[in-house]
Amino acid sequence: MSITPFSKHLSLFVILFFSISIISPVFAQSYFQQELKYKIEVKLDDKTHKLIANEQIVYINNSSQQLTEIWMHIWPNAYKNDKSAFAQQQLMQNQKKFARSKDQERGYIEGLNFKVNDVLVDVKLNEKFPDVVKLILNTPLNPKDSIVISTPFEVKIPESFSRLGHVDQSYQITQWYPKPAVYDASGWHPIPYLDQGEFYSEFASYDVSITLPKNYVVGSTGELQNEEEKLFLKNLSDITSKRDTFYADDNSFPKSSDTLKTLRYKQNNIHDFGWFADKRYHVLQSEVELPTSKRKVTTYVMFTNRYAQYWKNASQYINDAVYYYSLWIGDYPYNYCTAVDGALSAGGGMEYPMVTVIGSVGDNKSLDLVITHEVGHNWFYGILGSNEREYPWLDEGINSFYESRYMRMKYSDGYMIKKERHRGAVTLFGLDDFPFGYDDYLLYQYSASKGEGQAINTHSEDFTPINYGTIAYKKTAMVFKYLEQYIGVQKFDSIMQIYYAEWKFKHPQPQDIENVFERELNQDLDWFFKDYLSAKNDPDFKIRKIKKENNQIRVKVQNSSNIPAPIFIRSLDKNDSTIETLKTPAFTGNVYVYFDQNDTRKIVIDPLYIIPEQNRNNNTIRTNGLFKKNEPIDLRFIGGITKPNKTNLFFSPAVGYNKADGFMPGIALYNNVFPFKNFEWVALGMYGTKSDKFNGNLKAEHYYYPSTFEKINTTFSLYSFSTLNEENAGISNYARFFKTSIGTELYLKNSSNNKRLTRKLSYRYVFTQDELNEEANLSQVIDYSKSYIDEFNHYHQLRFSNNNNRRIQPYNYSILYELAFNSTQNLNPIIQSYNYSYHKFFAQFEQTLFNNPKSKWSFNYRLFAGTILTDNGITNENNFFNLSGSLDYTYDRAFFNRMGNQQQFYNGDASFKSNMFSQTYKSMFGVNIKVPTKIVLPIGFFADAAYASVDQNLSSADFHYDYGIYLPMIKDILEVYFPIGTSTKINNSINYTERIRFMIDLNVLQPLNLIRNIQIM
Ligand SMILES: [Zn+2]
Repeated sequence: MSITPFSKHLSLFVILFFSISIISPVFAQSYFQQELKYKIEVKLDDKTHKLIANEQIVYINNSSQQLTEIWMHIWPNAYKNDKSAFAQQQLMQNQKKFARSKDQERGYIEGLNFKVNDVLVDVKLNEKFPDVVKLILNTPLNPKDSIVISTPFEVKIPESFSRLGHVDQSYQITQWYPKPAVYDASGWHPIPYLDQGEFYSEFASYDVSITLPKNYVVGSTGELQNEEEKLFLKNLSDITSKRDTFYADDNSFPKSSDTLKTLRYKQNNIHDFGWFADKRYHVLQSEVELPTSKRKVTTYVMFTNRYAQYWKNASQYINDAVYYYSLWIGDYPYNYCTAVDGALSAGGGMEYPMVTVIGSVGDNKSLDLVITHEVGHNWFYGILGSNEREYPWLDEGINSFYESRYMRMKYSDGYMIKKERHRGAVTLFGLDDFPFGYDDYLLYQYSASKGEGQAINTHSEDFTPINYGTIAYKKTAMVFKYLEQYIGVQKFDSIMQIYYAEWKFKHPQPQDIENVFERELNQDLDWFFKDYLSAKNDPDFKIRKIKKENNQIRVKVQNSSNIPAPIFIRSLDKNDSTIETLKTPAFTGNVYVYFDQNDTRKIVIDPLYIIPEQNRNNNTIRTNGLFKKNEPIDLRFIGGITKPNKTNLFFSPAVGYNKADGFMPGIALYNNVFPFKNFEWVALGMYGTKSDKFNGNLKAEHYYYPSTFEKINTTFSLYSFSTLNEENAGISNYARFFKTSIGTELYLKNSSNNKRLTRKLSYRYVFTQDELNEEANLSQVIDYSKSYIDEFNHYHQLRFSNNNNRRIQPYNYSILYELAFNSTQNLNPIIQSYNYSYHKFFAQFEQTLFNNPKSKWSFNYRLFAGTILTDNGITNENNFFNLSGSLDYTYDRAFFNRMGNQQQFYNGDASFKSNMFSQTYKSMFGVNIKVPTKIVLPIGFFADAAYASVDQNLSSADFHYDYGIYLPMIKDILEVYFPIGTSTKINNSINYTERIRFMIDLNVLQPLNLIRNIQIM
């Protein structure tokens, strides 16, 4: 069910409806669909970018229910204001173009005056969505009866924000006319227009007359009725086909002719009507003979100069698409098929019945792919009219399966993404080794391999934007390939042809396709259609054991998931040639598979990479030798895709710098790049050219995705660098630190599918050892010659943090409790060694206000409070609350000059932007304010205020403040602060340049973190 309030009512309605139907079977409805007949007359005004139209719909009630109301979609109103579901979704997905647009760039429908059988009816507007209304019928519409709904309407065509729109005088007229929502066995389906989430419409006959200036070329749904216009297109085609050169840079519009023409289009058995008008179109007309009926279909491709170099070959693409989909599924039922080049702002292409619009393209292959995909939607959307909003896999997914089959057939050299254009990258990352289609697997693994996968059978609105593409499309394509291989291509094709024949021009639901498969195969396919399509994760198969018995090899295979699924398993000889390939039924737990012994050297699960599996590294076993499961090491430079059957290891050079160690060349070794693994580690070794010391960092992370938490992340790390290395008055000072930490973060589950909310509870133990060596001049009175201080610090940190990264007024807060046990050992007997411990509490809340997309400024405030309780009154000043940013005594951050000047700083404690050298070992609280603006330049204002109950410098309570301006170079990553005023007198020996401070978050910039945290939404 949809998450819109409508559907909540609707589901309530459905529940009521079905509970009633149990009592009185009279209410039970078998399959039916409403019948509609549209007649629309529309005129395009290309000066004001308006449509002026009249519409008449004959609505025949084929249900067994009396209807008292008709839900209508008036979708141009999706572009009317910020309240529409479309506007809200754009904002959610960080698409700010619409939110920032001016009123005159937006669109709407107006002049509506709904009549039923020529009598005005009441129209209930919708509070929540301006693009859905309800007509209240004056007299109920009885079963088998019909009414005539009529209205005039005018559409102000918006600029191109999504699908309906214009760019200058290039028009994409889609979702443009008032249209009854679907009424089916589960009731009404009123849905607002969305960019992510497609359609569900009633089948109808259309009779549409379009009036516009004579020199427009129109690509449209329906069969053109004007002979003169057909000739006009034919002539344009003759001119285009003789032409070799197109001027990609010339995209100017010719003047519109003063005379108008009216084009009439008619068509039965379609559920939508879109048209595209452009005066610049080149036209290529062609014809394709259908494989079964041998009927001929006329095809048009229409394009402007911009991508003409690719489009001039496009007749072949559209003809091939019509031919092969007809061959595999069933003949194309219409007489025309058109593809146009348009200024689409919603994905690479968009389908309408009989006409397809294609956006930007970069090469011939991708134009072929997009045309084929969109033309393919005539089958999966156009003819098999599923509810795409609710079950995107039924159209986008199955269509992607055929698109990929088409590409595989046509481009036998394989079709790894942009392979031709990015040859170097493909080789560097080792993509050559993978078969066709593996890129689909990798794409959806981006979120799946870090526990953010979603089930294929997910409502389109509930998918994250990345998962909508990689799961609803790509993963469905993979699992249908899996099903096809499981039941055999021929059988699969024949079943899909039966499904098509039985359900064409109807609304098949998921159960309907399953029923056809189960009936034709005479077997239960719930494992696929129910369990598999509803599973968030993939199954994981592994070979547990092999045993030689008589002349056979017995292989024990385990499916460690709870998703029942079959496998393909193969025995190979010493040359890796296939001996036998077997297939199991769907299973969970263990199965045994028997191979003939022959020359078998190796057993491999899923050798052709057909099963979308979580972990492929346990799919191979050798039949001889000691280490049967041992996999050879694959060492790669920089990066690459994890290879199944190999122990992957990567290395890359690394360089670092800090003032104490100097320039540091080094090397990084890591076990994984992509897809992500549940256990990953990075080891970094570096040599400090100034300190003459070896430094480094080892970090190992484990991710676990139980059902009770979003994820559990456990981290272990070792870390050591120099922090001080200088000579001062004959004394050379050297300091370094060692750090060990281990911690666990529990990410709480979110009740809704809210990916913007992160709540976690974490515990961390940190041990640090700080060493300070002072080598002094022996002539000094006090012998510091062997001053050697060691500090041992044990920290236990318990933290709760909540980060709501919503678009409007995002906020975050965190609460920290820290228990510390510290000790100091001084080898110089003159200086005392001591032990101490403390409890620290710290809380902060931060929020940004006025950050709506149109605003040129925003307001960020942070409130904080902290207190330290000591057992014996002493603490190390490193652990005090610091006025001017975090002292980072747990070494979580990288500093260029940790012990030196404090120009680099990190937010934390009182987070003062000016360097004011003040600390407290008691309580501190205050506020920070930042006002970033974009009025002229990106420049911001800051102000900080804090109260420290005992100031370390003054030994008394004190109040501090500062203010100034800053440059937000990269938000939260690189910011530079220029103080103007402070409460403390600034030391005059520091010149102004040294008072300028900066914050640079190097942790964010680590390559492996960057890969894991690409923000798509
Ligand atoms: Zn599609």
